[in-house]
Amino acid sequence: MIELLANIQPIVLIVLLILMYSIENLFPYLNRPANIKRHYRRNFTVSLISFIMNAGLGILVVMILEWTAKNNWGLLNHVNIPATAKVILGILLFDFGSYLTHNLQHKVPFLWRFHRIHHSDLHLNVSSSLRFHPIDAIVALFIYQGLAVAVLGISMTTFVIYGTIALPLLIMQHSNVKLPDWFERIARLVIATPGWHKIHHSAHRQLTDSHYGDVFTFWDRIFGTWGHTQPHEITYGLDEFKEDHQQKVSHLMVSPFKK
Ligand SMILES: [Zn+2]
Repeated sequence: MIELLANIQPIVLIVLLILMYSIENLFPYLNRPANIKRHYRRNFTVSLISFIMNAGLGILVVMILEWTAKNNWGLLNHVNIPATAKVILGILLFDFGSYLTHNLQHKVPFLWRFHRIHHSDLHLNVSSSLRFHPIDAIVALFIYQGLAVAVLGISMTTFVIYGTIALPLLIMQHSNVKLPDWFERIARLVIATPGWHKIHHSAHRQLTDSHYGDVFTFWDRIFGTWGHTQPHEITYGLDEFKEDHQQKVSHLMVSPFKK
């Protein structure tokens, strides 16, 4: 079952990308960029560069997963609770660790230089989902995930289930779609819905530094990093990336290294 879930993840991802692309073009939620084809092209190029540069690191995370299980490493391998409870606790702890890492990506200036590429998008749509600077992706995916797996003792089952929830959610969160108000209201009590996550992309720094949760909203609620603003009340992007030349792929790639 877990092997099947792991194998169908890329297919689910591609189907969802096409589905959300179709929906956001038929029923766009907020204003679309003036040149939407260029916007898609630039974002998919950044995503592709990031994907190619990180492809090998995914294999290393799997190796850490296998090594952790074989050597009984990590917190969860030393608590005596039923297997299902261990998976649920693992998912919660893994998401909490991701929340903390995301905080660091905003608060540590060196990490922010790379993470802000994801935040610099002036329009959110499906192509924004994977618009990460390759080094930002290394921090969030490889360094965090590799460490968390070893320290927490995350199992392959937990890892695959978490990915099966988080990846589709990531695409939906950035798509230019609006879910029914009643659904948003109920779902965001637990899950970081598209409406909830979009607030994190505000150009207003106080809002940018909020709504950090990847999957669950508990962590933002517990630590007070959330608010009641709605996506249609905000402007996306960052002041230092407002000009068109600052949205070019070359600028997005080299800007973290410039003073
Ligand atoms: Zn962020």
